[in-house]
Amino acid sequence: MVVLQDVNKHFGDLHVLKDINLTVHEGEVVVVIGPSGSGKSTLCRAINRLEPIESGTITIAGEQLPEEGKALAALRADVGMVFQSFNLFSHKTILENVSLGPTKVRKAKPAAAKARAMELLERVGVEHQAEKYPAQLSGGQQQRVAIARSLAMEPQVMLFDEPTSALDPEMINEVLDVMTQLAKSGMTMVVVTHEMGFARRAADRVVFMSDGAIVEENTPEEFFTNPQSSRAKDFLSKIL
Ligand code: ATP
Ligand code: MG
Repeated sequence: MVVLQDVNKHFGDLHVLKDINLTVHEGEVVVVIGPSGSGKSTLCRAINRLEPIESGTITIAGEQLPEEGKALAALRADVGMVFQSFNLFSHKTILENVSLGPTKVRKAKPAAAKARAMELLERVGVEHQAEKYPAQLSGGQQQRVAIARSLAMEPQVMLFDEPTSALDPEMINEVLDVMTQLAKSGMTMVVVTHEMGFARRAADRVVFMSDGAIVEENTPEEFFTNPQSSRAKDFLSKIL
């Protein structure tokens, strides 16, 4: 579904993505972990072409990501992305936040887009907030709306970059539960997170990054109980 081949990128002298090779199969959930500054966010942004790469190729559902223009917009619509900050449109209601993309980008009829948005709001458990504005919701609720908004575009793959790290502890699980449900439903997902419980529970594969490179990838069981590299051992000793 998502295939990265020999992807390289620098920020000035910093080699931030080093020969990245990564394949995410359809329906697979890949959790990316690693120390701060290891390139996890850059990797996510590269998959979405929010960040240009210097060499290598990235294909999504068999199509190489174009550099720009309409083709890029179309392909980007197939890749949902949820960030640490929820980025909802503050002057639009929750329902409008979720139904706007499909009407504008996918040319859905407004009534159909609204009905679908309500279904998605129900799915993430915020249907009672549909007529409110983002500022009237808790962080956990806003993040669940952000997930619903991405899903409304019917993406082929969902990218999550630390979606719970800006949340108060009591709200983290409500977002992780939605993500776990999504994982179980067969969505193809790439998730950057420090939530190791989620990784154990929902990941098919854990990818460990350090200094811009993928150092190790394995099933969660293997990775957490029997890390191979010294860098992974060192990282896990600090966080577990
Ligand atoms: P964190 O866990 O803190 O979110 P990360 O693994 O997501 O870290 P990235 O944000 O991908 O790391 O950053 C990788 C490296 O690239 C870091 O050293 C960072 O300072 C640098 N970097 C990121 N974005 C830019 C930019 N736009 N310009 C210059 N350097 C950047
Ligand atoms: Mg990051």
